[in-house]
Amino acid sequence: MLDPYNRHITYLRISVTDRCNLRCRYCMPEEGVDLMAHEDILRFEEIEQLVKLSVDNGVTKIRLTGGEPLVRKGIVELVEMIARIPGVEDLSMTTNGILLDKYASDLKKAGLKRVNISLDTMDAEKYNYITRGGDINKVFKGIDVAQKVGLEPVKINCVVRNSSDEPDALAVKEFCEANNLSIRYIHQMNLEDGTFSKVDGGDGGNCASCNRLRLTADGSFKPCLFNELGYNIKEFGQEKAFQMAIKNKPLAGTRNKSGRFNQIGG
Ligand code: SF4
Repeated sequence: MLDPYNRHITYLRISVTDRCNLRCRYCMPEEGVDLMAHEDILRFEEIEQLVKLSVDNGVTKIRLTGGEPLVRKGIVELVEMIARIPGVEDLSMTTNGILLDKYASDLKKAGLKRVNISLDTMDAEKYNYITRGGDINKVFKGIDVAQKVGLEPVKINCVVRNSSDEPDALAVKEFCEANNLSIRYIHQMNLEDGTFSKVDGGDGGNCASCNRLRLTADGSFKPCLFNELGYNIKEFGQEKAFQMAIKNKPLAGTRNKSGRFNQIGG
């Protein structure tokens, strides 16, 4: 489906939960965040219907995000439900990798094609600091199992402050080259003041050719990450919420004062 600027919208990023098992400093404030009420979170059947609706309107690529998607109970079942929808050509997930070693094999069997895993440093102490308590060894194990079960490609999302020449980014790059992993550099973003840039090694942040919509865990179609617009299916109904998100997609991102990464899924 074309948006008002003749961009083909073929990609839907679905946040399946706003919860996470980490507290990354550039995503979650120290004091934590108010989480969505359980009853507001979309049920699997609703997500399945919304994917079918999106596919009927030209979407072919689905990415599952969060919060952390692997903390959503029954996530393997959801992957299976989405993977069997005709027209879903690409089904991927963005994860922090902490639980990946446990789920990778079942996710692959359920129809997941590939994963992006967050890793900003090779230093265990720094990782623990950035994530407020994460164990980097669990991520390494997750990467290893993901490759072994054939999730392909396994990409590494490396958040950088200013450039990919930062020592941590160079160390992650070396690790990726040694382990047949592709790396993408994501410059730290700030929703409130509208700081964002193109993903280095990916296609995010390129407004002129933006092909994506987002669906929040509580059912809002968001035309743009750096914009406050959102159309909730409970208010507008599924079809109308989708159509309004496309029709009102902005030419480019500006800022999003009310949004949170853990609710929208980056
Ligand atoms: S800021 Fe908005 S328009 Fe630009 S690439 Fe991101 S989602 Fe697309």
